[in-house]
Amino acid sequence: MVIKKKNKTEYDFLKATDKNPSNIQPEKLTLDSRLQFECHPEVSCFTACCHNIKIILTPYDILVLRKRLNMPAHAFITEYTEPTYLEKTDMPGLQIKLVGEKNGCPFVTPQGCTVYTDRPSACRYYPVGMADFHEGGKDDDAEEKFFFLVKEPHCKGHEEPKQWTIGEWRQDQGVDLRDEMNKDWLRLVMRRKSFGHQASLSDAAKRMFFMASTDLDTFRTFIFESSFLDTYEVDAETLAAIREDDVKLMLFSFKYLANTLFGAAGLSIKEEKIQSKVEEIRKRQDEALQKAEQEYQQMKAERDRMARER
Ligand code: SF4
Ligand code: SF4
Repeated sequence: MVIKKKNKTEYDFLKATDKNPSNIQPEKLTLDSRLQFECHPEVSCFTACCHNIKIILTPYDILVLRKRLNMPAHAFITEYTEPTYLEKTDMPGLQIKLVGEKNGCPFVTPQGCTVYTDRPSACRYYPVGMADFHEGGKDDDAEEKFFFLVKEPHCKGHEEPKQWTIGEWRQDQGVDLRDEMNKDWLRLVMRRKSFGHQASLSDAAKRMFFMASTDLDTFRTFIFESSFLDTYEVDAETLAAIREDDVKLMLFSFKYLANTLFGAAGLSIKEEKIQSKVEEIRKRQDEALQKAEQEYQQMKAERDRMARER
């Protein structure tokens, strides 16, 4: 069956080597579909796909990689990444900064990937892409999800005899955890994409999306050292968890972004904050009314004066 491009949430945008869509095999695959493929150091193309490539990093990728390299977020971002836009949106993100004459990933060596067990999601998915028709809402309809094979001429892994199901391949690559960790963030990106250019996102909103998606150290400071906690209701258990646990903080950041960017449920503003906002609006309205009344009285006085002079 031909893969339709409309209304789908694609996970394959994280990695792009070749823009030729004919490399995507026109067959919808399931977890039980057969796959003939293997990648190992003896394939003639070994590490070819780690050069001249765009690898978008998800927030979980950044978290795992910087922990692996024992670096604070900002140092990792500066050294190993460069800015990009996510999936034809105006949402800012990060991609791996390629280096050297061969334009390679900074983690590749002739012997292979030096961060293999912590490699980004995109490197794990390849060459099996996943499409998901959920548009940021329901997440319980497994039938909406399917897989497809990317078969690029340079990749000789397809000529290897090893056979498995898509499910076995995915398990081998450890993508289930990545799916779970990336899901809500990818849906934010896709939700933004589905809005197109009709709805604009303020620069402040984009900055917030970028900060929360890439730099959890700064996001934690924002939560605990700004007026955030005066504004939002966050229970003590959640607060204790996000203070210590980076993964929980990351998942909380997705909830916060969904709420502030798209009005999704999940975070509530404190009652007193709402009241003070209502007061502020009322005060502004009262002041505007007073000003209008004054202007009216002045106009009336002027009109009366002119009438008397006639
Ligand atoms: S992170 Fe590893 S697998 Fe991914 S492109 Fe870089 S070297 Fe290759
Ligand atoms: S077989 Fe494919 S995935 Fe493996 S190194 Fe070669 S190009 Fe990359």
